[in-house]
Amino acid sequence: MHKSHHQKAKTFFEWNDLFALLFAGLSLLLMYAGSKDFDYRFFIGLGISLYGLIYFVVHDWFVHRRFKTFKSTNAYLLAVRKAHKIHHKNRGKEKGKAFGLLFVRKDLLN
Ligand SMILES: [Zn+2]
Ligand SMILES: [Zn+2]
Repeated sequence: MHKSHHQKAKTFFEWNDLFALLFAGLSLLLMYAGSKDFDYRFFIGLGISLYGLIYFVVHDWFVHRRFKTFKSTNAYLLAVRKAHKIHHKNRGKEKGKAFGLLFVRKDLLN
């Protein structure tokens, strides 16, 4: 499914977006299951949700500009975008570079 994210998009949605739905569903189920006395399942579900939210805001909204409304000149954010562009340079499954989402190499800062 992630492969669709590395190909030129023809439509607004791509198969990679299905991950968001799958994880949102899993997260809701876990939070519901653990909601009675806020056991570990609730917090696992909450963690998945928070990761999804960060991924959406940083990756989809800021890095890929899916909504064209989030601009920044912040050095850290620009480094996150740069790191992700490196991740996107590779089109195959092998030799890909992980971009780390919120962690950037020092040399990308500036
Ligand atoms: Zn991407
Ligand atoms: Zn990728």
